[in-house]
Amino acid sequence: MARYTGSKCRLCRREGMKLFLKGDRCMSTKCAVERRQYPPGEHGQRMRRRPTEYGLQLREKQKVKRIYGVLEKQFRRYFEKASRQKGVTGENLLRLLEIRLDNFVYRSGLAASRSAARQMVTHRHFNVNGRIVNIPSYSLKVGDAVTARTSIKEIAKVNVERRGGDAVSWIEVSPEQLSATLVDVPSRESIPIPIQEQLIVELYSK
Ligand code: SF4
Repeated sequence: MARYTGSKCRLCRREGMKLFLKGDRCMSTKCAVERRQYPPGEHGQRMRRRPTEYGLQLREKQKVKRIYGVLEKQFRRYFEKASRQKGVTGENLLRLLEIRLDNFVYRSGLAASRSAARQMVTHRHFNVNGRIVNIPSYSLKVGDAVTARTSIKEIAKVNVERRGGDAVSWIEVSPEQLSATLVDVPSRESIPIPIQEQLIVELYSK
């Protein structure tokens, strides 16, 4: 599956907020959003007009895609799947993104960032229920247990120690085993991202 390979900090600057795409650096004073608080590019410092309704909806969609590292085609597929499910489409969409294996590894603290988690998964460093899974978009189910394999244990241990308290209520982390279990379906309140998902639904419903 294709992925974005350009500058990550550029994406944060474009959205005007920290998207936490780079692990430790995002917490340091080196963060580009803090150093240059204007959009990237030649015209980044020009006065901006008030965004249109469409502009707001588009930016919200771009933020979510960038946070989870998903490109347009795949994101659209997630949206279509979310709209076929029962309940609120925007919440279903976030839920589908949250139960991706790469996001789960990041949320459980086993990786420093989602892109690091993605790489660790594609390099076959994780088992799901005892079997190797190397597909970052793999959708987990309640009860699934993800465990770091011996090849990555040292790095995963350092990550868990550093990010210790980050885990969300629907993930149970075992720092000794370097494993994490999906214990519940994530509810919107328990997904810590500052996004108005309703705007994405409005955008795709036009
Ligand atoms: Fe975004 Fe992190 Fe870069 Fe800051 S350091 S701009 S939060 S990716």
